[in-house]
Amino acid sequence: MRILITGGAGFLGSHLCERLLREGHEVICLDNFFTGRKANIAHLLENPYFELVRHDVIDPFKFEVDRIYNLACPASPPHYQHNPIKTTKTSVMGAINCLGLAKRIGARVFQASTSEVYGDPEIHPQPESYRGCVNPIGIRACYDEGKRCAETLFFDYHRQNQVDIRVVRIFNTYGPRMLPDDGRVVSNFIVQALRGEDLTIYGDGKQTRSFCYVDDLIEGFIRLMEHPTLTGPVNIGNPGEFTMLELAEKILTKVGGKSKLTYHPLPGDDPMQRQPDISLAKSELGWEPTIDLDAGLDRTIPYFAQLLGK
Ligand code: NAD
Ligand code: UDP
Repeated sequence: MRILITGGAGFLGSHLCERLLREGHEVICLDNFFTGRKANIAHLLENPYFELVRHDVIDPFKFEVDRIYNLACPASPPHYQHNPIKTTKTSVMGAINCLGLAKRIGARVFQASTSEVYGDPEIHPQPESYRGCVNPIGIRACYDEGKRCAETLFFDYHRQNQVDIRVVRIFNTYGPRMLPDDGRVVSNFIVQALRGEDLTIYGDGKQTRSFCYVDDLIEGFIRLMEHPTLTGPVNIGNPGEFTMLELAEKILTKVGGKSKLTYHPLPGDDPMQRQPDISLAKSELGWEPTIDLDAGLDRTIPYFAQLLGK
């Protein structure tokens, strides 16, 4: 198949490009390089089945493809809060442009949605039926509400225009190719530990997240995209839940060195807990994660060590 991946030069997108090329598909990677890097896909540029297009998803685009994966959007809070109006535009107009293209050419289209649609959840773990608790005017809203609106557009194009859609709700994912200055917790803690700096705990560190290793996530993407009928939304994530203090201790033990913990104010609207209910992914996609946090960190720490020359 010929497959378009928006945001293909980013962390998740580059792993997806690689996987789909390995499976024998033709891949068009569209990216504006806001948070993506040429280095993430440099090794693919010689592949005759790979094509790179510098373009912004808020402007319309046209390709003849069988599948569209829409991943374009900054994912880390410092990045998506850098220009929040642009973040909302990217989610909403990017979705409209992908859906318009899918409608015109009859392609199946996939949306990278997020656990952030659940906001600061009142029920735990979160099943897909939970409608969320998002502050629509807070500093995370550009991302959360942008992604919620994108989901709305996906389901309206599906109902109104019979567009063939797939929607995944991704929970915190980590692995090689995250940017060292990305600002997300796994990359921050590993980079700080490797540099011998203190680890920055926001708030009291008792908030929780569930961390999925990138290879598991990509497997879930492909199973959902190639499912004959399931539109989603489907949660994909690792249900193993950890406090930020537990994560920090784990990373300090693995990296060693002299780093301690320092405490900083909790950013606005930071969710207190998060854990995916993956019953749907298990029953409909036969998917569950295979790489636990320890094994995933053991694969991620060497990537950062090499990057930082440590
Ligand atoms: P990332 O920042 O590494 O990748 C995003 C990519 O999109 C980058 O290459 C960036 O340059 C590109 N991009 C951003 N705005 C664009 C625009 N207007 N036009 C074209 N390209 C644009 O982030 P990631 O972790 O790889 O996330 C990929 C997708 O998955 C995002 O949509 C994100 O919201 C979603 N997601 C990720 C996670 C996670 O834990 N990694 C969790 C939930 C959802
Ligand atoms: N966090 C932290 N120290 C950091 C970066 C993040 O304690 O250096 C916390 C952050 O406040 C949040 C959790 O780690 O509670 C996960 O943050 P991340 O930005 O990785 O993802 P998100 O909040 O979008 O789930």
